[in-house]
Amino acid sequence: MLHVTKSFLPDLKEYVAYLEKIWSSNHLTNDGPLLLELEKKLAEFLEVEHLIFTGNGTIALQLALKAYNITGDVITTPFSYCATTNSLLWENCNPIFADIDPVSLTVESSQIASKLTSSTKAILTTHVYGNAGDLELQEELARYAGIALIYDGAHAFGVNYKGNSIFSYGDITTCSFHATKIFHTVEGGAVIVKDAKIANKVRELRSFGHKGDVYLSAGINGKNSEFHAAMGLVNLTHFEEIKSHRQHACELYDSKLCNQLQRIQWNADLKRNYSYYPIVLASENDLNQIVENLINENVTPRRYFYPSLNTLPFVNAPSCPVSEDISKRILCLPLSATISNEEIIKVVDIINSYYS
Ligand SMILES: *Cc1c(COP(=O)(O)O)cnc(C)c1O
Repeated sequence: MLHVTKSFLPDLKEYVAYLEKIWSSNHLTNDGPLLLELEKKLAEFLEVEHLIFTGNGTIALQLALKAYNITGDVITTPFSYCATTNSLLWENCNPIFADIDPVSLTVESSQIASKLTSSTKAILTTHVYGNAGDLELQEELARYAGIALIYDGAHAFGVNYKGNSIFSYGDITTCSFHATKIFHTVEGGAVIVKDAKIANKVRELRSFGHKGDVYLSAGINGKNSEFHAAMGLVNLTHFEEIKSHRQHACELYDSKLCNQLQRIQWNADLKRNYSYYPIVLASENDLNQIVENLINENVTPRRYFYPSLNTLPFVNAPSCPVSEDISKRILCLPLSATISNEEIIKVVDIINSYYS
């Protein structure tokens, strides 16, 4: 079976070396030494000021919204994983969907501008597939409106925009370190924030809202453990090799897949992380046929992202024609740190044969 993704696992010995440290410290969770080391190393690696390691990428989004006290209308993307919308709903926010650009698949800044009203409380969009919209323009829009700009950076670990970490744009960015992501801690995530006061608020909220015996606010449990931090410390040392293997795989797909397939357009100012390989088919019928052909050969791609989030059954929102159209026709091809040339050629041959 060739799945859309395969979690990276380091050499067991490297992980066991950290388990020995846990056994000698007997510190399993609650801001342990490995967690503090991981937070420091990630902040250095990503060149960001404050990074708070969390239980997962969804609680990171919730903590970001909570830290800014956001409820009410939030302009957001219809083209992302459902966690982006669900975290808004969970925090009693009202998602206002701004449609995406048909080639970059990120939210159009002009769409954000057209949705801004006096009741808009924040903007939350996704660096989908690690791609970027016009980040400076979005920062300007948020500043003009006097509201927080939040990015769901779950796909964007290690991406650079105009020479800076993409996580340094906006007021606050969240990331997911789930096992399927390019950098993972099995389960995990992070809140990356510029403002020291907000960073402290996120730390407080992450640990039930209390510091020692002082009960400050109605927080939540958003913590993570030493076992997860250990996986992060090991995997971080492999990030460059993982990224370059994926880059090679993406370039092989680029050169071998037939030209009829639409690819997404990457922002020219990006240094990518090669975390996904999306293709856009001409119709949903083509997509269904190709998926069937792949499954018959034991290849399982994923319909990332389908459906368009404004059409989720528990959401009542106006139409976003571009996102609805693209989400019916987009497919992510298998990509991982260990995918072989033979596996890629197999996928390419199945897809290309549909067109010949
Ligand atoms: C994976 C993902 C999340 C959720 O992350 P978890 O760590 O699984 O909670 C949120 N947003 C996007 C865009 C994702 O892809």
